[in-house]
Amino acid sequence: MNSSDVLIQGRAAACSPGIVIGKIQKVSSGEFPIPERHIEAERVATEISRFEQAVADSVADFDRERHHLIGLDSQEPLHILDSQRLMLLDADLARKVIHSIGSECINAEWAVHRQIQDIASVFDRINDDYLRARKSDIQHIGQRILSHLTGFDHAVLPANTNEEPLVVAGEDFTPIDVLRLWRRGVAGFISEKGGPSSHSIIVARGVGMTALMGADGILRQVSDGDRIIIDGEQGLWLANPSPATEVEFRALAHGMQNIERDLQAYAGLASRSSDGHPLRLMANLELEEELPQAREHGIEGVGLYRTEFLLSVSEKLPSEDMHYQHYTRVMHAMQGLPVTFRLMDIGGEKPLLFEQFTGHRVVATNPALGLRGIRLLLHNEGMMQEQLRALLRASVHGELQILVPMVSRVEEMQEVRRQLTTCADELGITKLPALGAMIEVPAAVMIADSLAEICDFFSIGTNDLIQYTLAADRADEEVAYLYDTAHPALEPMLRQSVRAAHKAGIPIAMCGELAADPKWTELLMNMGFDSLSMGLHHILPVRKHLASLNYRPDN
Ligand code: PEP
Ligand code: MG
Repeated sequence: MNSSDVLIQGRAAACSPGIVIGKIQKVSSGEFPIPERHIEAERVATEISRFEQAVADSVADFDRERHHLIGLDSQEPLHILDSQRLMLLDADLARKVIHSIGSECINAEWAVHRQIQDIASVFDRINDDYLRARKSDIQHIGQRILSHLTGFDHAVLPANTNEEPLVVAGEDFTPIDVLRLWRRGVAGFISEKGGPSSHSIIVARGVGMTALMGADGILRQVSDGDRIIIDGEQGLWLANPSPATEVEFRALAHGMQNIERDLQAYAGLASRSSDGHPLRLMANLELEEELPQAREHGIEGVGLYRTEFLLSVSEKLPSEDMHYQHYTRVMHAMQGLPVTFRLMDIGGEKPLLFEQFTGHRVVATNPALGLRGIRLLLHNEGMMQEQLRALLRASVHGELQILVPMVSRVEEMQEVRRQLTTCADELGITKLPALGAMIEVPAAVMIADSLAEICDFFSIGTNDLIQYTLAADRADEEVAYLYDTAHPALEPMLRQSVRAAHKAGIPIAMCGELAADPKWTELLMNMGFDSLSMGLHHILPVRKHLASLNYRPDN
């Protein structure tokens, strides 16, 4: 089908910002034939060495791309390449593939394909965007090895040879594909699969390529050479736009560049209202890969580091030393800024982590109300103590705080404090890090006065507080209309928590999504919040908005 000059448009996940107006070229990507053959026993050694050579060639691909990134401002693409390179060299994957070749007498392609599919299928049961995106990592690694084994590349990538910007559309792009497109002068890409948490997107943002993902059916709808607009802010694509529409989007692109320049001016400023009231803006982080970029956003500390994501980057449970090394790297990267590590919040909407942690599947009929957060940790005290010991050891590298998830009873905080003190005594550490409770369960709000007496700080997790208060599952699309931040039940709960914290003389933060919404900034500041913690990209817009507000304390 030739789409000629009929306007066609669609929506997709806005993954990497910017607007590109140019021509589109499709790449035929996706599955390529994978030969599956039984082999004679005497061929096993040859197939194993073919596999090992394919891994070595894939590693060389990564090293070549790495070389092109030296000198780039953003370190993230490098970190993604390094983490995928590590996955390639994963001893467990190699062991399983080699075992499969030898024990089943099958060729290397078949063994690799089967192992990758096995690992990827584990991710299908997961209701968590971040972890689902890790499935594409393992598939990308598999594609790379298979492309060396079979001689097929999963996508033949074009280069831009014209002045006019080129947008490439395909089924899926690996981080290496993205880097190759970037080096070949391609301005943006749009894919049918994938979403905002994919590593390909982190790379795209790092090199400044505009990208949309999850554009279902685009490959059938557009033809090579069609004019295209992709809008990485609004998650919108338009093929064959009218000249008037192009003019409109050019103006929009120009305006965005101005806004971006304007926001950068706030990166080096402290967060204050127009009349000088400070409201600290901190970052919510979960991955080491975000660290280099974090400082560029002018953060004033890390208000929430979701440590459970450490489990998603290793197959085994992290040892005390792995925890320690990780936290130490975070502390060093933050160069003296305060960092709040939340104890692993496993369970609830993170079933795979639960399985990895406990060794068995979630059996609870309602995991959100089951063994999650501090409840699970108190059932696995050995593991909690390993994490506490690692945090205590890392606390000598700066201002470290510990946050406890899913607290619903005073006894839970008392027990964590008791164990923290015991671990500190064993390690000979006399200065305990500040210990705080997440206020994310309505019961915690109701007992906030008693909790405040044994806590050093509070942090309100509105994502869960709203779900539990309004009895609306945060991940269930069908009740999304009930998950309503404007519900009158919410504000009094926030006020009650702030009152309890300040009566006890402890600071209170907010680290749920609500903290990132500029419509709430004035109210939260006037209520008395001491800090707000949010995703990196929200910090500068909220700081700019804050600078236009006047502080009018509520009481
Ligand atoms: C929250 O519940 O608001 C929160 C910040 O924690 P998470 O989203 O990790 O549950
Ligand atoms: Mg929560």
